[in-house]
Amino acid sequence: MAATRKKSSAPPAAAGRLDRMLGAHLAVGPGLVKAADRAAAVGAMGLQIFTGNPTGWARRAELPKELPEFRARMKEHGFGPLAVHAAYLANLAGPRPEIREKSIAMLQHELRVAPAYGASFVNVHIGSHLGTGVEAGVKRVAEAVDQILDGVPADASDALLVLENSAGGGNGIGESIDELIAIHEAMGKRRVDMSRIGYCLDSAHLWGAGVEMDDLEAVDRVIREFDRKIGLEKLVMIHYNDSKAPHGSKLDRHQHIGGGEVGARGLAALISHPKLAHAAYYLETPGMEEGWDKLNVERTIQLAQGNLKLKPLPAEVPGVPKAGTGAFTKAAAANTRSTKPVAAKKASVKRAVSRVAKRAAKRSVKRR
Ligand SMILES: [Zn+2]
Ligand SMILES: [Zn+2]
Repeated sequence: MAATRKKSSAPPAAAGRLDRMLGAHLAVGPGLVKAADRAAAVGAMGLQIFTGNPTGWARRAELPKELPEFRARMKEHGFGPLAVHAAYLANLAGPRPEIREKSIAMLQHELRVAPAYGASFVNVHIGSHLGTGVEAGVKRVAEAVDQILDGVPADASDALLVLENSAGGGNGIGESIDELIAIHEAMGKRRVDMSRIGYCLDSAHLWGAGVEMDDLEAVDRVIREFDRKIGLEKLVMIHYNDSKAPHGSKLDRHQHIGGGEVGARGLAALISHPKLAHAAYYLETPGMEEGWDKLNVERTIQLAQGNLKLKPLPAEVPGVPKAGTGAFTKAAAANTRSTKPVAAKKASVKRAVSRVAKRAAKRSVKRR
């Protein structure tokens, strides 16, 4: 299969070449529909977006007019779950009441508007205890989540609130699986409706936090730890990023796939681990709109296929046609067409790809 790459200008869609969903976080400044088309054109199978300014509190009062068209286009492309990434200012773990209230209100807003976007996930960085200690922080997170969900009844939003691990800098909570477990248990004690909660592991954050993940065995340990106390079905999202920061540095610095410190082996193990095929993966790598998105999708597919010899990163911005230009639209259209007979194709391709992934996983174990 892998050898039959056609001489078409259409990019290698991840659909059919991965046994799991690979999406891209893209800017929606040019428009939601354009972002969806771009994701398809670069070979992604899904999208993560901000609904407003990621570094501001304000959320738009009126919903974008193109939402119905956007939802339709997501369907046309055969995309996986849409994720909304909440603004970075949110802090559910901190002691300052005004920030806490704003964070709760903002997340309630994101949950309420999620259905209009067709979003399955509202993803949030858990936040920082700001020096007040992990225990106090964990307690505050559980209380805040309780309050958020109380304010948005389940019938008003079917989106999951998805808590993301931290690299641990600035007293960030959730830097280890143990801390995620502590939060999970604290929420359980408060009888939070756990059917509305999910988790996201960001590989660059795991790396920054000093979690071992540079080969299949290490990744497997992380997954087993998570599964034992939380359950892998709760691990609904993976932020699939390499890291520019050294292991254990507590820094959160995303890098292109295979161009950073995590390296090809660990990232290959993460994208092909058989127990994570249910999770939705999203690239949050730098310079997406400059063409690095397409390159990172291709590099991810290569790793998933067990080919760990990635080319060095190009010295210059790869550049792909911008949304709206002729070439781009053609590529997007080609991609749409190729996803039409989805059901049948998906099933057979899925089987083939999972065989490839399994072989890759085996090979990477042997290589040690
Ligand atoms: Zn992330
Ligand atoms: Zn990050």
